[in-house]
Amino acid sequence: MTTLTLYNTRTRAKEAFQPINPENVRMYVCGPTVYDRAHLGNARPVIVFDVLFRLLRHVYGPEHVTYVRNFTDVDDKINAEAQRRKDAGAPGTLEELIRERSDETIAWYLEDTKALGTLEPDHMPRATEYIAQMVAMIETLIAQGHAYVAEGHVLFAVDSWKEDYGRLSGRSVDDMIAGARVEVAPYKRNPMDFVLWKPSGEDLPGWDSPWSRGRPGWHIECSAMAKELLGDTFDIHGGGNDLMFPHHENEIAQSCCANETEAMANVWMHNEMLQVEGRKMSKSLGNFFTVRDLLDQGVPGEVIRFVMLSTHYRKPMDWTEKKRAEAEKTLRRWRGLAADIEPAASPAPAVIDALSDDLNVPGAIAALHGMAREIESRRRDEVPTGAVATFVASAQVLGLLEKSAVMGGWAQTKLETPQDGILIVADIRVTQSLDGIRRLAKVWREMRSNKDFLSADDLKIRLAEHGVELKATTEGVEVFVARPFDPAALEALR
Ligand SMILES: [Zn+2]
Repeated sequence: MTTLTLYNTRTRAKEAFQPINPENVRMYVCGPTVYDRAHLGNARPVIVFDVLFRLLRHVYGPEHVTYVRNFTDVDDKINAEAQRRKDAGAPGTLEELIRERSDETIAWYLEDTKALGTLEPDHMPRATEYIAQMVAMIETLIAQGHAYVAEGHVLFAVDSWKEDYGRLSGRSVDDMIAGARVEVAPYKRNPMDFVLWKPSGEDLPGWDSPWSRGRPGWHIECSAMAKELLGDTFDIHGGGNDLMFPHHENEIAQSCCANETEAMANVWMHNEMLQVEGRKMSKSLGNFFTVRDLLDQGVPGEVIRFVMLSTHYRKPMDWTEKKRAEAEKTLRRWRGLAADIEPAASPAPAVIDALSDDLNVPGAIAALHGMAREIESRRRDEVPTGAVATFVASAQVLGLLEKSAVMGGWAQTKLETPQDGILIVADIRVTQSLDGIRRLAKVWREMRSNKDFLSADDLKIRLAEHGVELKATTEGVEVFVARPFDPAALEALR
């Protein structure tokens, strides 16, 4: 079996990865707080850990890996947006408006991450559905003397775990107090103590607890969900390095104390941050954009993914227009080479070797470039089909050159819900009703099932002239609509 080497923030060293149980390799990655569209920086951990997930599935088998990524749907920013809507006269209670806001943001997030070609994690728990587990964990911490109640709040007492607190980020409690901007509150025993539970006023969402009608602190959410879904100690915990302190440090303190374990996760992995054109992305600099902004500009999700992957995850990543253009060129070429070739059963060893070395994706991409050049250097009829099939399988370990409509339909980002086995994928510029196209796709399917291939081919060609591409699949028909069309001209085709 391939041996993976991963850089472990906990030990500050690259280590051979040894799962606790190779039959069930477990990974937790901190997910988004769902109050708005994912910005480009949020996409980096999503893509980095998706590649790790794919690699783990390759090495241990897809059924032997469990990946959890949560949604934080308890947050003051969500509450504020819901309150704003209520003030503007939106119908419903505040709680309903909060739920509505989280639901809509979660749907956006899933849409965007799908466009980036990521696999869905096995579990995507929402914090609000694990309140009972959080309350139970807080009760344990209080009983152990690691937490205390003060004015309706529950706080974790860092002094109760002083020797270990701060180990992940390599700071002592005293250093942290000296250097950190901590919230000073009269009810805290130590300024570094952090909130496990806080009371909610009448106008805020809250749950009953032994301490107050209130809501959990952010850190306890991950500890409780990870314990419930992955157990007391699991293999890999990931996230952006902006989460290392205080979020991950606090997760570790809560979990190790409550579960009485040496480690919450054996390996901690952190990706570096993202910049845009050499500068920190910020609203005030005018270089702040979301994944959706790029997709709407017609940048395929696969191109965003490729640019993200071209820098090693532990190095700062710079998003530039030049990289975007180059990625697009490369992928167009590769897609041309891959054509309709089915992937081979195994990817190239060079690609797996690179990935196994602390997720050296740039190295894997270099290997893919080599394979592509090798294929291009031969005449088409001289290329062994096996070489192309291996190339495709290797690219797919990185989540590239996938056949799925979402990644493949390059100009598109809009995916209709399939109806009667007909899936329409349309360019975002297409605003016309697609009903006529759906009808024609049914006519085409009928012609084919009646073995009237002459008429079917004729219809297909004439539709293609209008930018509508038909493809028979095992589930039915896939329709790509590449550009706006004239509905009247299509009607005439019937
Ligand atoms: Zn977390």
